[in-house]
Amino acid sequence: MSNPLCYLHDQIEEWKREGTYQRLRVLESASAAESRFDGKEVINLASNNYLGLTTHPKLREAALEATRKYGVGSGAVRTISGTMSLHMQLEERIAAFKQVEACVVFQSGFAANAGTVAAVLGPDDHIISDELNHASIIDGCRLSKAKIHVFPHKDVAAAEKILAKLEGVPGRKLLISDGVFSMDGDIGPLPGLVEAAERHGAIMMVDDAHASGVLGRNGRGTVDHFDVHGRVHVQVGTLSKAIGVLGGYVCGSRDLIEFLYHRARPFLFSTSHPPAVAAACVAAFDVLEQEPERIETLWRNTRYFKQELTAAGFDTGISETPITPVIVGEAARAHQLSRELFQEGVLATGIGFPTVPKGKARVRTIVTAAHTREELDRALGVFRKVGKKMGLV
Ligand SMILES: *Cc1c(COP(=O)(O)O)cnc(C)c1O
Repeated sequence: MSNPLCYLHDQIEEWKREGTYQRLRVLESASAAESRFDGKEVINLASNNYLGLTTHPKLREAALEATRKYGVGSGAVRTISGTMSLHMQLEERIAAFKQVEACVVFQSGFAANAGTVAAVLGPDDHIISDELNHASIIDGCRLSKAKIHVFPHKDVAAAEKILAKLEGVPGRKLLISDGVFSMDGDIGPLPGLVEAAERHGAIMMVDDAHASGVLGRNGRGTVDHFDVHGRVHVQVGTLSKAIGVLGGYVCGSRDLIEFLYHRARPFLFSTSHPPAVAAACVAAFDVLEQEPERIETLWRNTRYFKQELTAAGFDTGISETPITPVIVGEAARAHQLSRELFQEGVLATGIGFPTVPKGKARVRTIVTAAHTREELDRALGVFRKVGKKMGLV
C-alpha cells in the first residue's frame, strides 16, 4: 500500500537538506530570565515575557484561587454557557485600562486578529495592509474575502495613494498595521496612518501584540504612545506576551464589541478561557498599574543591551523596542549563530527566509525586565566570543 501522505516525508527531507528543518527546543523549567531547555541552563533571550509576569506571585495566586473556586474549564463557548463573571471582569478591566468603551477577549491574539478582520469585512470591501503585518492579520484578510492591497513597510504615502485610488470605489476600507513589528522591533507610523484613514473615511486598526505592556503609559500600547486616543477604531492586543498568560483582545466602541459577540467565529465556535487564565490576566493589569518600575527596567535593559551589541560591532537593524535582531545574512549562518550561542549558554532564535527577506536572516533577541545586569553582561560576553569565532565582528 502506498502512503498517500508520503509527500510530507519528502518535504521534510528537503528541509533537512536545506538546513531549515527545525527541531523544537523543550523548556523544562518556568519561562524566566534563565531557563532550562533540552537539559541545559541558558539565559533566555527568546521569550515574549517582557515584564517577567509568567511567574509573578500575584498572577500565580489569582490562577490558583480561581481554579479552587471555579474549577479548570469554562464548559462551553462564550455564547452558549461559557461566559463566566471572570471573563466579563477581564473585559471591563481591559476596556478601562485602554480608555475605550468596550473590549472582547479571544482565546489568542491570533484568533482576535483573524476573527475580527473576517467578521467586520466582506468580499466587496478593501483592506490596505503593511507588507510586514502579522500572519494572523493576513489570514483574517484572506478569510474575509475582501480585496487586499499591500503597501511597502511603514510607507504612509503609499498607503495614502492606495486609499486615494479607492476614492469612490464601492465597499468599506480598512487600514491596518502592527503597532510594533515582531521581526525588526520597529514601531508602526500610527500618526500618519491615522491621518490617512481619517482623510479617506477608512476604518483604522492596529495590532499591538508587541506594544501592550511595553509602550505607552503603564504599557497602554502605541495608541497611548502616540496619543492618538479615539482615532483608532479597532485596537488588538495579546495577553500572551507582556501580560504573561494567554489570549487576545479587541478594544473599541460598544457597537464593535457587540457585533463581534455575534459574528466573530473564534468567539462563537471555540470554548472560552479557563478560570485560571482569566483571573491571572486580571491580576496582570493590576500589576501593570501598581508596578510601573517593571516597564522602566525593561527599557533600561533594552537600551543597555542594544548599545553594547552595537558597540561590539553587530548589525542590530532598525529596532526601537526590546526586540533586537542581530542580522547576519544567510539563513544557515543565523541558525549556526543560534546553535553556537546555545552551546555557550544563551538562547536566541535564528530566523530566515521566508519569515524575513533573503540576505536578512538574523538571530532575534528579546530582553525582559526580569534579566539582571549580570545576566545581560554574561549574554553579551557570549555574543562577543561567538561573533569573533564566526567572523561576524
Ligand atoms: C504574537 C502575535 C500575535 C498572536 O498573539 P497570540 O496571543 O500569541 O496568539 C498577533 N500579532 C502579532 C503582531 C504578534 O506578534
